[in-house]
Amino acid sequence: MKRVVVVGGSLAGVRACETLRHEEFSGDIVCISDEQHAPYDRPPLSKKFLSGEWDADRIALRRPEAIAELNVQWKTGSAAVRLDTKSHTVTLADGDTVSYDGLIIATGGAVRRLHNQPNIAGVHVLRTLDQAAALRDDLAEGSRLVVIGAGFIGLEAAATAAQRGVQVTVLEGLPAPLIRALGPDMGSAVAAVHERNGVTIRCGVKVARIIGGDRVTGVELSDGEIVPADTVLVGIGVAPATEWLESSGLTLSDGVVCDASLCAGPTNVFAAGDVARWPNTLFADIEPLMRVEHWTNAAEQGAMAARNLLATSKGEPTSAYAAVPFFWSDQFDARIQFLGRTTVDSHAEVVAGDVVSGRFCAMYVTNNRLTGVLGVSMPKLVMPSRALLSVNTAPDDARRWFTEKQASA
Ligand code: NAP
Repeated sequence: MKRVVVVGGSLAGVRACETLRHEEFSGDIVCISDEQHAPYDRPPLSKKFLSGEWDADRIALRRPEAIAELNVQWKTGSAAVRLDTKSHTVTLADGDTVSYDGLIIATGGAVRRLHNQPNIAGVHVLRTLDQAAALRDDLAEGSRLVVIGAGFIGLEAAATAAQRGVQVTVLEGLPAPLIRALGPDMGSAVAAVHERNGVTIRCGVKVARIIGGDRVTGVELSDGEIVPADTVLVGIGVAPATEWLESSGLTLSDGVVCDASLCAGPTNVFAAGDVARWPNTLFADIEPLMRVEHWTNAAEQGAMAARNLLATSKGEPTSAYAAVPFFWSDQFDARIQFLGRTTVDSHAEVVAGDVVSGRFCAMYVTNNRLTGVLGVSMPKLVMPSRALLSVNTAPDDARRWFTEKQASA
């Protein structure tokens, strides 16, 4: 294997490049990224970068010297538009073609927009550094921000804006905030921190359209009500960025479908991060194929995809990526942490603290076993519970563990 091409220059892609070098791959590495910026970290975009506390230099993923040491050929500002797995080539938007011996797909996700979203001043999405900077510059103290979507982007941005003195209203289509990630009860419990801090969250509302002339003036709901706005953030999720793979022959179904080693079909093609959908053997009973849109997963999968690509090229066995998913979110003074997985069939039960105090821990039972642990400002209890999620733990054993852990704290 003389040349590895990594498509995607964010966390998963950078970790793949780093791992290739750490594992002593001395061939060419080409990293293709549709962004102009050097790799940066996304979590601060809706928090300390949006608040203006941190600037772009502070969120660089690596120092410039560390990037230079990798000896990677960066092709920035050029999106991959086509993959040909027979000729082993990636075509770029500018018409350039790059050939590979090994390929790692780390293209992440593309923001969803409303089907009728107008392209007028004051209407924002938030995924990239430039988008975050545009929103940051548009938020004036005392102005009104309407956030569409009570997911992580929406709620983190809502908290940051409120702390900057902006009046914030969040509109969510589902019956509760954060419902997909945490379920209805815990989603509402977590989002209560917003109500305590003056953010209005309205769930179960349907947005008809965003209104305005040159600049946005409000959001019209399906019953005709108009929610006035000086600025609107549309945070309605992301879709895996697989459009450029449509003619590739790879299996695409809510992401690039991979095997347990993150191999995407052809033995020299792997995927990692938000775009990869793979069988996570630790959760196979509740979710045969999993796709995770969080930081830790992107970092770990980028490294794993690189190691497995190298192993395959040497005829060595690959490893399965089996992990307990983890994410965190900071909203106001609440540190939200979640380990594991929840589905529509999961049952959540508070096992420490209490919801009213805003400091609690809940366990999720799915298929009669522990599959998730949520903590709000209880880091000492959440992180050690990871071991319980790596094995099949019965609900009673989990309850006992939490009781004993609290008693010894
Ligand atoms: P998200 O977490 O999927 O939340 C989007 C929410 O908007 C969902 O509840 C969605 O409901 C709702 N929605 C969709 N269409 C709507 C409409 N027309 N009107 C009102 N609500 C609507 O996505 P996100 O908050 O945009 O975040 C984007 C990605 O970044 C996610 O993958 C997220 O996990 C990631 N992220 C992670 C973190 C973290 O880990 N701390 C922080 C920020 C972002 P439906 O599900 O029914 O569509």
